[in-house]
Amino acid sequence: MRAELVAVGTELLLGQIVDRHSAFLSKELSQLGIDVFFHTSVGDNWGRLKEIVETAVSRSDLVIFTGGLGPTEDDLTKETVAEVLDVPLVEHPPSAEVLERLFSERGLSVPPSNYKQALMFDGGTVFPNPNGTAPGVAISRDGVTCVLLPGPPTELYPMFEAHVRSYLESIRPDHEVVVSKVLRFFGIGESHLVERIDDLIRNQDNPTIAPLAKEGEVTLRLTAKANTRQQAEAIIAPVKESILQSVGRYVYGEDEESLERVLVTALAQQNRTVSLAESCTGGLLNHMITSVPGSSAVFQGGIVCYTDEVKKSMLDVSPDILAGPGAVSMETAQALADGALRRLGSDFALSVTGVAGPEPAEGKPVGLVYLGLAERNQPTRTYRLNLSGSREKIQIRAAKQALYILLE
Ligand code: ATP
Ligand code: MG
Repeated sequence: MRAELVAVGTELLLGQIVDRHSAFLSKELSQLGIDVFFHTSVGDNWGRLKEIVETAVSRSDLVIFTGGLGPTEDDLTKETVAEVLDVPLVEHPPSAEVLERLFSERGLSVPPSNYKQALMFDGGTVFPNPNGTAPGVAISRDGVTCVLLPGPPTELYPMFEAHVRSYLESIRPDHEVVVSKVLRFFGIGESHLVERIDDLIRNQDNPTIAPLAKEGEVTLRLTAKANTRQQAEAIIAPVKESILQSVGRYVYGEDEESLERVLVTALAQQNRTVSLAESCTGGLLNHMITSVPGSSAVFQGGIVCYTDEVKKSMLDVSPDILAGPGAVSMETAQALADGALRRLGSDFALSVTGVAGPEPAEGKPVGLVYLGLAERNQPTRTYRLNLSGSREKIQIRAAKQALYILLE
């Protein structure tokens, strides 16, 4: 099924608003297994709108319009579609009643111009609008379905949830199902990952393979279409297997998992605890871990040791280390992790110290970060990272890297 979206409204062309509706609808349609081939924005202009409607119905099976269902002269979507499809607009009594009720509740009578909002396509499907005066409406003619939805987000989104998604499911051919599986990677960049599975990416069809990089993580979304869920899963399985064979060592989780969730689960299974000493991440790691429900079973506590004073007094970092190699150093990372392990009495302790920027510190460059990982009765390990990006990005990446070294 080929679909396209038409966003109607001169504000879109003037740059006063951004077309959020097409992004929303495209995502929804892809989850329904309906391919979207075009997005068009067009102003509230009869001639140009007509041109777009003619083009759209000639090349697509489904055209979804948003906007231009209001009561004013420049709200033209329904009238234009009616003309191009040659379907008459007729009064829809239930919609007229809703209009009358809405206005009488405010002690008003319906302005004559509003009555056009109760005109619907003869033989169409009406989607009630509890949040406004313009119902949505769908009409099919000669194998093409046009769906017209109101522009205001407070009307469109609830209407979609309540009526439009199930309507689209009902007109979708052979009830195809779409199943996605997300593989989550850490410790490998997007381009390296893509290179390693180049042949799979190049020959992709069903499932499709979509890489996405975010905050030091890379995800691969495998999406399969089939007649049943089991068939779609069976299409994904061998491709997932090939991916795991070549880059599986970088996979830390699937679907909605996150590094912190996976870590909390792993620690809980081993019945072990972790504590933290955070300098440049300022509590971010504490927050990430404690955001996971159930973290209280594995998280002992954390110290945000921003100044040298706190590093010394709370975590026993020696003045010699702070005066010598400095707060941003391998030695400090190690001392912080050891201090947290001892002071907070956990099985593992992670430490982070570095320069998040935007200015260098201690003569050390922005993005230089040291991590420490202490473990009871084991030698403490340290890691040096050279991160790039904004202060916020460096903090997020450092925190995720710390979670990852403990996971490994
Ligand atoms: P109204 O009865 O308000 O005239 P309508 O169905 O005619 O409704 P429009 O006039 O096109 O819809 O849009 C109403 C408002 O909805 C716009 O001012 C804008 O704030 C928002 N809107 C419309 N289309 C979009 C879009 N594609 N993306 C984001 N917001 C939109
Ligand atoms: Mg309008």
